[in-house]
Amino acid sequence: MSHVIEQLDKYAKELVASGLVVGAGGNLSMRDGDYMYISPSGYDLKEIKKEEWVKVHIISGEVYGSIKPSSELLMHLACFRENEEITAVLHAHPTYSVSVSSTGKEIPALFPDFPAMVKDVAYIDYVIPTTELLANEVANHAQKAQVMVLRNHGVITLGKTMNEGSLFFYAINRGISEGFCH
Ligand SMILES: [Zn+2]
Repeated sequence: MSHVIEQLDKYAKELVASGLVVGAGGNLSMRDGDYMYISPSGYDLKEIKKEEWVKVHIISGEVYGSIKPSSELLMHLACFRENEEITAVLHAHPTYSVSVSSTGKEIPALFPDFPAMVKDVAYIDYVIPTTELLANEVANHAQKAQVMVLRNHGVITLGKTMNEGSLFFYAINRGISEGFCH
């Protein structure tokens, strides 16, 4: 089993354990050469078997195998297409983040490592999830921002490694919950 699948497996389980992702309410992907692997549609992230991660060709978008990829596939593809340095993408709808993002406010940098870790946060106005329109919005920011707040929807983070993407994911969600909800 490839290194990429092992990491996806590990980080998917961590996301669920963190409480930020409930059931099938999130998706993650990793680059593997010209391809990416993404979580399948409708699966509880902690229950994805290693052979169930869906292989997709990054440029053509061709999907391999019989399992349906996450409905948010286009947004993940956009990140890998726009920024060659990115190898991992995480997206979910943590309750705090969705409610705070819908207020139109920006996330305050309330703990010391936040600005050092997360340099550019992009805010994207509500666009219907899973659409090409949303993928285009994400593509517009993918060169620069590794953290994007999708208003009324959730959060997406881009990592040069899965470890980095996941640190950003936890940092932005911590920033949101500590900044607004305590
Ligand atoms: Zn979503």
